Amino acid sequence: MRNRALITGVTGQDGFYLAEELFRCGYQVTGLVRGQRNPMVPALRRQLPDLDIVHGDLLDQGSLITAVDAVQPDEVYNLGALSFVPSSWQQPMLTSETTGLGPLRMLEAIRVVSGSNGSTSSQPGIRFYQASTFEMFGQVSSSPQDEMTPFHPRSPYATAKAHGHYTTQNYRESYGMFAVSGIMFNHESPRRSEEFMTRKVSVAVARIALGLDQELRLGNLCAQRDWGYAGDYVTAMRTMLQADRAEDYVIGTGAIHSVRDLVRIAFDCVCLDWEKYVIVDNDLLRPDAGVLCGDARKARQRLGWSPLTSFEQLVSSMVEADLHRLSAAPAHDRRSRR
Ligand code: GDP
Repeated sequence: MRNRALITGVTGQDGFYLAEELFRCGYQVTGLVRGQRNPMVPALRRQLPDLDIVHGDLLDQGSLITAVDAVQPDEVYNLGALSFVPSSWQQPMLTSETTGLGPLRMLEAIRVVSGSNGSTSSQPGIRFYQASTFEMFGQVSSSPQDEMTPFHPRSPYATAKAHGHYTTQNYRESYGMFAVSGIMFNHESPRRSEEFMTRKVSVAVARIALGLDQELRLGNLCAQRDWGYAGDYVTAMRTMLQADRAEDYVIGTGAIHSVRDLVRIAFDCVCLDWEKYVIVDNDLLRPDAGVLCGDARKARQRLGWSPLTSFEQLVSSMVEADLHRLSAAPAHDRRSRR
């Protein structure tokens, strides 16, 4: 029998890479998709032709029970969330409902469909993965951060994710479910959406190299992050659900780079001097937390996980993908930025 997985947030970056990874491992994969006419679905069907689709919404408890009952998954990966931190200030209620209460609704759906408990370490049943984030650490007094670092969330997005994290722990401890939370540092790829800085840069560098743009406006060039490759991080998600014991893990590369480092490497890929094109725009500055850097020793020791893709490889793969996409696009599509 093939393992069956249900993924929420399958139209996002991580959902795509996770579905690909699970297909490679022989799974039958179903994606939970919001809305009957979701505009992302045609592209999803083209790119992942073997993906099954079930309709449902993290805001709607009944739809999740129906979806879990219909799919009868062995594993549920809850990746669905409103995930752009600045937008969470514009929509704090919606962020709390989707990102914070969404995991609770999915855990309840699993509990109801499985008769009370999901899977435990010793019992088969439904295993649950919650996509948590380093943003929960927020304002830190020590670096790097590991599983023991206290949380101090500093945005509606981060507080909502902290709710999802504690709910996952609570269902594990109270119902004995095999429910785990992966506290992931930034992970990027050519599939990252363009509001995130890494992709904004890779698109801009490709456009400048092709003569379609002359400048790139950015905020704080000194801001630092622990950036990894999304394809490596979905392997950690899958591995966490294969472990003997349900436990939470921090996933990061352990290395930090500045926005300036990233920009320099991206422009180097097309043999251009970044300083001739980058303009610091004060309107794009935003308050930033201290230096956040993932200590993934536990994942390395217990799961055998470590990142395979270097920062340089990540940045150059993103620039190359955008160069390729834009070079192949018809002229009228290249002119527009979207
Ligand atoms: P996140 O803040 O870690 O979720 O990811 P982002 O990609 O949005 O931002 C990463 C870092 O890049 C942050 O410290 C931003 O302040 C910094 N940054 C500098 N310029 C920009 C910009 O133009 N857009 C975005 N999104 N971030 C920028």
